[in-house]
Amino acid sequence: MVRFSLLLAVTLVALSACTPKKGDQADAGASSAGTRTKPDRPSGTLTLRFLDVGQGDAVLVTTSDGKTMLYDGGRSTTRMRAHLQAFGVHQVDLMVASHADFDHIAGLEAVAKDAKVRYFVNSGLAGTTDTWRRLVDALQAQKTTFVKASARTFTLGDATVQILPPPAGMPDDQNLNSVGVLVKFGAFRALMTGDSETAETKAWLAAGALDGLGPVNVYKSIHHGAANGDNAAWLAAVQPQNVVIGVGKNNYGHPTRTALNLYKSVGAKVYRTDRNGTVTVTVQADGSFELQPERP
Ligand SMILES: [Zn+2]
Repeated sequence: MVRFSLLLAVTLVALSACTPKKGDQADAGASSAGTRTKPDRPSGTLTLRFLDVGQGDAVLVTTSDGKTMLYDGGRSTTRMRAHLQAFGVHQVDLMVASHADFDHIAGLEAVAKDAKVRYFVNSGLAGTTDTWRRLVDALQAQKTTFVKASARTFTLGDATVQILPPPAGMPDDQNLNSVGVLVKFGAFRALMTGDSETAETKAWLAAGALDGLGPVNVYKSIHHGAANGDNAAWLAAVQPQNVVIGVGKNNYGHPTRTALNLYKSVGAKVYRTDRNGTVTVTVQADGSFELQPERP
């Protein structure tokens, strides 16, 4: 218990350190945090890869000028290492843990050990597992900057990453404190909100977090297609055109018929990493994009 408390204290210090003020914009692509003027129209391309990590989530976002964001890392260090190698990732400018559950952070440990990680964003609700501790240790060892999620943006090359922090008043539950990210590149929009459940999406809607947002071109299914994640009110605001479900063999019944029916009802095209493998989205500067599943 003493050991646990110490770890928790160390973690809390790490998480509260270097937290920029609300509304700040940091450039995750430059050598130091700061602001810069972004062109209205991006250049180059943006690539999003919804990685096949089995039952779990991991989304790798890269710009053509070499900036990288990783949103979650799946449940397997082995699988994540294979992806890092396959895509030649040596530096992650922005690592976001949607929440501290195993199927989202276990693979991040491999990234924290094998690649340079500049910023690490999480909900501020520390995990209580050895997996979480090893991740925090590895990031601290390489002096990653810890940032508690707040309503702010990061610059990733010519792309913008808008953080959706957990709404105020959520109970201390990992899923209900999922950190969302909205990736913008010209007119293109991609949205992912971890394993957030209906209470969190409802609070985001009430706070106007999605006002004027939809349609979202590519959207990550909430909670691997669980029945308590995506819901009609939320999807009416998101208006997803394409949904990618991060899912593998599981005993939870993911993705559920409820979620699949919801996606169908809003006319979204559905991809799932268990059937389609890694799903790659290539976005051009004009906002047009191509979506390519590894297995069509
Ligand atoms: Zn999950």
